[in-house]
Amino acid sequence: MSDENIQGKVNVPKSTRDLMCGFHSAVSTSPLRIASERLGDLPDWTLQPNPSWLRIVGGRAQFAAVPGENVIEASSAGLASVWLVSRAALTLWNTYDKAVDRHFGVGDEVASASATANVDFGPELSKTDFSQTIEYARALMENDRCWAEGIAEPNPCAALDEFDGRVGNLFLGAVAWIVLHEIGHKVHRDTNLVGAQTRTLEEVEADRFATAHIFDSTSVPATHRTFRFMSVVVAIVWLGLMDTVLKLLPPEAQTHPPAYERLWSMLETTSALDEPDSDKHTYAGVLIKAVFNPEDPGAACTPQGLLGEAFELLVSGFRSSSMTPHQDSG
Ligand SMILES: [Zn+2]
Repeated sequence: MSDENIQGKVNVPKSTRDLMCGFHSAVSTSPLRIASERLGDLPDWTLQPNPSWLRIVGGRAQFAAVPGENVIEASSAGLASVWLVSRAALTLWNTYDKAVDRHFGVGDEVASASATANVDFGPELSKTDFSQTIEYARALMENDRCWAEGIAEPNPCAALDEFDGRVGNLFLGAVAWIVLHEIGHKVHRDTNLVGAQTRTLEEVEADRFATAHIFDSTSVPATHRTFRFMSVVVAIVWLGLMDTVLKLLPPEAQTHPPAYERLWSMLETTSALDEPDSDKHTYAGVLIKAVFNPEDPGAACTPQGLLGEAFELLVSGFRSSSMTPHQDSG
């Protein structure tokens, strides 16, 4: 009889909580750090050290302001899915940058964002884990589950000059906007005890609170503004993915305006529409198209009306079930 070999490593499945807990403290300070020049404008209870106001819960991806308490709930699946969308975004932007460099020559001055119109990076993108990462993020919106095999794991300790560190930073920027939205509900004393129409208005106001907090300051350097803009774009792309899950629920469960309206409203609030040929719009456009039009992620830019086209895609993506991305995940 030969002995059974029970030595060696066993791959115990990791939970989203295990993998995101290293970020909990940074998540709780992210609303303060994304716009540190405006600390004084946040309610006192958000400034507490070791906050009890951020409560990590189980269940599917979600964030919520708890009525009657100064508490914001974030599920581990919610945090993980925002991290996954952040990672997918940076993977995509890196791939896009390399394709632009190859097209124009590294170091060459690219005359304008619209000059990159016909750079097709779809084939390169398909060699990355972009689609699987987005698919897993969407699966976490249906229910929490163990970390998917083959999907990169978060590293809260990575330095900012590493890819993982940039992913963590973008994640914290995106989560800051989402948590600020929930803080906005508390500041406005919103309850869930109102009709659907009022509820939708409250959501618009909470968005406005978050966006205004991040952008309404004249003293923010341009590089910071770009980082903040990209963070909010990632947050709203996360909301757009959530829309594709929520639209499978009964209409009464759908209390938020659709993500494309929220994106549009953010663009208006930040006056981003006044700079139509800006790099940050190109980056936002390629991300929106790759997530919501996965068949053709490379057809990402057009010389004119990039924002208009991205907006159209958002609209058609959310309205037409045939466009629902990653329908078979989960
Ligand atoms: Zn809300």
